[in-house]
Amino acid sequence: MWIEPPAGIPLQSPAGAEASRLPEPAEVVAVEPGSIGEELGFQSGDRLLSINGIRPRDLIDFQILCGEEELCLEVQDPKGELHVVELEKEADDSLGLVFREALFDGLRQCNNHCPFCFIDQQPPGHRQTLYLKDDDYRLSFLYGSYLTLTNLTAADWRRIEHQRLSPLYVSVHATDPDLRSRLLVNPRAGLLLEQLAWFAERRLQIHAQVVVCPGWNDGEALSQTLGDLARFGAGAWPAVLSTAVVPVGLTRFRPPGDALRPVEPTVARAIIDQVEPLQETWLAERGSRFAWLSDEWYLLAGRPLPPRPAYEDLPQRENGVGSIRAFLEDLDQATAELPLALTRPRRLSWVVGRLVAGALATVVERLNRIDGLELLFHGLPSPYWGQDQVVTGLLTGADLLRGLAGRDLGEELLLPSVMLRQGEAVFLDDTTLDELRQQLPVPIRLITGADDLVAACVGRKGEGA
Ligand code: SF4
Repeated sequence: MWIEPPAGIPLQSPAGAEASRLPEPAEVVAVEPGSIGEELGFQSGDRLLSINGIRPRDLIDFQILCGEEELCLEVQDPKGELHVVELEKEADDSLGLVFREALFDGLRQCNNHCPFCFIDQQPPGHRQTLYLKDDDYRLSFLYGSYLTLTNLTAADWRRIEHQRLSPLYVSVHATDPDLRSRLLVNPRAGLLLEQLAWFAERRLQIHAQVVVCPGWNDGEALSQTLGDLARFGAGAWPAVLSTAVVPVGLTRFRPPGDALRPVEPTVARAIIDQVEPLQETWLAERGSRFAWLSDEWYLLAGRPLPPRPAYEDLPQRENGVGSIRAFLEDLDQATAELPLALTRPRRLSWVVGRLVAGALATVVERLNRIDGLELLFHGLPSPYWGQDQVVTGLLTGADLLRGLAGRDLGEELLLPSVMLRQGEAVFLDDTTLDELRQQLPVPIRLITGADDLVAACVGRKGEGA
């Protein structure tokens, strides 16, 4: 029987089809100060070819291979010279290397054609990377991005099992095979229940999300989907750890005649009325609400957000579920010891999406009680996407330039970093942060959370400054 290597690709093989996915050497872009990598002389531009004769396919392989105590690294320096480095270390010592990409053998793209796909609802003419449809289980494991499981090969499933890549984050949308196939426009999408059973049998776990498209997967279909997921969410070792229910986002660039409807307040209220009783049932049965509605449902419905404890340990915070309550809680801590007055008066502005502005108005009131502070608050719509009620993370550079033109911005603009593409100083419409800085009349300070906001208001240097 052929035994897979624990991680990576042996350098002498493979041939044929697998060779088309042979990983590139992993390029180092930074070396942590004081790390083993620095001691060994690693520098930016070095390319890691192999570890103990194995070429890593991605960061997961790299981390597993580096779990050995004795390592033999094959490295190519920026001049092209090859070096072999041998070392001994503790199993859990990190090399302290930062790579340009997390995937060394390319991104797995999606093979679905969902009519509600946000990537397809962008205008043409931007950088190619904006149109990449990532559906890669490695990124799901590493960073919590959602995948559909429709493009996995037999080797991928074996790898998930062998390397225990869990939890993954799965876009479910519907559990009925026909409905899910129609939503994803892919017959392979109908295998989801078998795939959940596969996870359950192996004690591997997922977090699920359901994007609700009114008229498609709401009503009875949503109850069935949540019920099916909840069956896999029971017991001492649940295969489904949590479920997020989020509304479909539609932009003005979507193709005509796509049969999609935006979420109106009446729909939002109906979804809340449908899901909250289910939460109560699961809470009584198993001690957890199991499925949560994203903040947008309550904001669109004009209803108060549930209290912070209702989100339990915030398993889907990154998906906009409980994120406002969590921010308010963080703010309570960050403002526990506020000064009564500033030594130097400050006038600042803070910009957020119009949909969330009402929920954050109390924050502004509280901060403005500090003598000498004036925090100006701007909740903007998104003409770019054609959305009046928009969350902060969707505001683009064009929206900011248009929405802030002629407004009083004080001496500094506080900009939530969630508007920027992860790891890049670029907005969703390709405007760069530098371009925004050049066109606004005041300096911009990035804020990543409640601590940064408070630090900026009281004149402390914050992390996001
Ligand atoms: S799976 Fe995601 S990326 Fe692929 S088409 Fe559907 S929404 Fe778009």
